[in-house]
Amino acid sequence: MSFVIINKSYSFLKFITLASYFKSMNKIEHIGIAVKNMDLSEQLFTKILNVKSYKREVVASESVLTSFFQAGPNKIELLHPTSEESPIQKFLDKKGEGIHHIAFAVDNIKEEMNRLREEGFILLNEYPKKGADGKWVCFLHPKGTNSVLIELCQDIRDTEDGF
Ligand code: ZN
Repeated sequence: MSFVIINKSYSFLKFITLASYFKSMNKIEHIGIAVKNMDLSEQLFTKILNVKSYKREVVASESVLTSFFQAGPNKIELLHPTSEESPIQKFLDKKGEGIHHIAFAVDNIKEEMNRLREEGFILLNEYPKKGADGKWVCFLHPKGTNSVLIELCQDIRDTEDGF
């Protein structure tokens, strides 16, 4: 009898854990890749993924040109600097082409930013800012994340003007 009760409470706990997991970092939203030549890289990823880029977008605040691919559930963001001061240019100079960041989709970016701040992570921006492809974004400093640049992103909803 007691075994049954333990079993029940265990699955209840498991449910709670899963529920909070899905409320937080829902899924990998996209992977960002720094590239030296956007035209050539778009051609390359069109061949790899067998789909064309669905959008090019400049994010002026970051001095970056982005290009997005959607292959099944997988989204790839190519990143190319638009000025010498671009963080992408600095990344290319230091590390060369390759994976630049991993972005996670979150339901409530402010809540996630607060949670991660309380966990001791350094956020690269104090408030969510407008990123490419209709998202609020925030980055975690790679010093505290095994050198992986992590982006949080939340869909910009029609009713939101800003943070
Ligand atoms: Zn990104």
